[in-house]
Amino acid sequence: KRELELSSALQTATTLDGRAFEVQANIGGLSDVSLALKNGADGVGLLRTEFLFQACSELPSQQYQYEVYRDIAKALEGRSLTIRSLDVGGDKPLASYPMASEENPFLGHRGIRMCLADPELFKTQLRAVLRACAEYSNIQLMIPMIAQVSELLAVKQLIAECRLELKLNEQQAPLKLGIMIEVPAAVLNADELAEHADFFSIGTNDLTQYVMAADRGNPSVSQLVDYQQPAVLKAIELTCKAANQAGIPVSMCGEMAGDSEMVERLLAMGLDKFSASAALIPAVKAKIRTQNLVSVN
Ligand code: PEP
Ligand code: MG
Repeated sequence: KRELELSSALQTATTLDGRAFEVQANIGGLSDVSLALKNGADGVGLLRTEFLFQACSELPSQQYQYEVYRDIAKALEGRSLTIRSLDVGGDKPLASYPMASEENPFLGHRGIRMCLADPELFKTQLRAVLRACAEYSNIQLMIPMIAQVSELLAVKQLIAECRLELKLNEQQAPLKLGIMIEVPAAVLNADELAEHADFFSIGTNDLTQYVMAADRGNPSVSQLVDYQQPAVLKAIELTCKAANQAGIPVSMCGEMAGDSEMVERLLAMGLDKFSASAALIPAVKAKIRTQNLVSVN
């Protein structure tokens, strides 16, 4: 049965009424690509670059990062690669980059906040991504933990500086820039953020934690940490609406995207794309094939 499931997973996930949906993979590095493709991944919707940083005793150089991103883009043979910029802090420390301890690390200096506070660290990654994109145009960049438009504009400014330094214009490295929607402020401000982003990707793991004010790793509040909570579903719906209205694609890369039971609901809300761990892709694709958008909408 698994064999059959895998061979059909390689086919496109098209609804009964003929709309094709991409179901992509969440990966941590090059070694995850072959399993993702075997499971039918239509590209990578989330490359968690923190693994690459955590695996090194020193901060990875621009050249090293460039080679990793390039090799993954190449292995995907034209399918798209969504690189998430460094998302450490909170529950994810980094040995090569000691950070001050914080009383509330999940509400503190993590993700894009940390990157913007250390432009040299961030620009090393941005240059590596731009160089890889100049060779493989299937690469796009996604920023975690965005809470306000000014952060996205600051990222654009740094990318523009890196382009000048590398002498790579937008035709030479056509990097699309998207954001994760995982902070409630980003949901509430999704309309304005959509004016400045090429795509959204909903991170339901953090979005659930922050909407419900319940630590995603704390078992004593696990009843609250549930993406089926009505408040979380409303946040997802608002995000999809804002993206649909602005005409930008909205994907989901949190755990909810790998739950085939949620597919019907997410399609009804206007989600355009899914990204999940490789093992969950075949079931999500199979579920999409049973759906009829005319009836779910
Ligand atoms: C998320 O928050 O849903 C997400 C995909 O990112 P991470 O789990 O890496 O925080
Ligand atoms: Mg997250």
